[in-house]
Amino acid sequence: MALKIWLNGKLVDREDAKITVFDHGLLYGDGVFEGIRVYNSKVFELDAHIKRLYESAKAIRLTIAISHSELAGAVEETVEANSITDGYVRLVVTRGVGTLGLNPFICKNGCIYIIADSIQLYPEELYEKGMRIISATTVRNHPLAIPPQAKTMNYLNNILAKIEAIDNDVPEAIMYNHEGYVAEASGDNVLIVKDGVIYTPPAEAGALPGITRSIVIKLAKEDKLQVVEKNLTRFDLYVCDEFFLTGTAAEVIGIVEVDRRMIGDGKPGPITNLLRKKFFEYAHGKEK
Ligand code: PMP
Repeated sequence: MALKIWLNGKLVDREDAKITVFDHGLLYGDGVFEGIRVYNSKVFELDAHIKRLYESAKAIRLTIAISHSELAGAVEETVEANSITDGYVRLVVTRGVGTLGLNPFICKNGCIYIIADSIQLYPEELYEKGMRIISATTVRNHPLAIPPQAKTMNYLNNILAKIEAIDNDVPEAIMYNHEGYVAEASGDNVLIVKDGVIYTPPAEAGALPGITRSIVIKLAKEDKLQVVEKNLTRFDLYVCDEFFLTGTAAEVIGIVEVDRRMIGDGKPGPITNLLRKKFFEYAHGKEK
């Protein structure tokens, strides 16, 4: 079946899903987006993603022309139209068409589009054996620059860190903030375990407030595990007992080496494995 894309209120064929070269999303990376999972035909944590999208839009003074519930309905409509049972949704709101100048307020209509498709996951082996990663030299955006807590279409900061990872033959890189504290990975949040306690940087350290991270924290607390949000240094990563990343696409994945320092015994640790299993069960069992 041909992929149907939701574009400004209509479901259109993939070949017809076109936006103009004058869109400020393309000209300037001016817009916001979300990546959302579908498990067992249900859109996972849709309300949380919609809320984060509108908050990102507010931060960049982008008005989304339709309501939260209309947009949520459009996501569900797109998933159904494409008969997606397990997949990934990309929801994008651009600033729209203006002039070649920067002024965003000349752009009259933001462009909204939704793609619902399958997802390319990390290979299963990586989840079992754990991932090797590096520290990026690219510093996470300063909070007074593009706010790291907003999920904007301007992802070059993260892409530069991802390039460093690829250059070093690893899938991910840790980004530090302008003060040297851990912010997040290029596309995932960071959590470590030390002496049985889970530590994760606060969003103010320069992290996107990850929806997977918030669920994993909730599941950990339900299991009576202690979770502490605090600034982490590179040293904290090097000497932790366990290390894992969370994200919509990656879910929960163990890290076994950072900058050539082995983490724990070089295998994903017991708390990592427990939370990975609990997240899987939660995601696959959750009602719409
Ligand atoms: N940080 C960044 C930079 C990301 O792109 C993502 C993925 N959206 C995350 C963290 C993880 O957030 P979430 O769990 O909401 O996908």
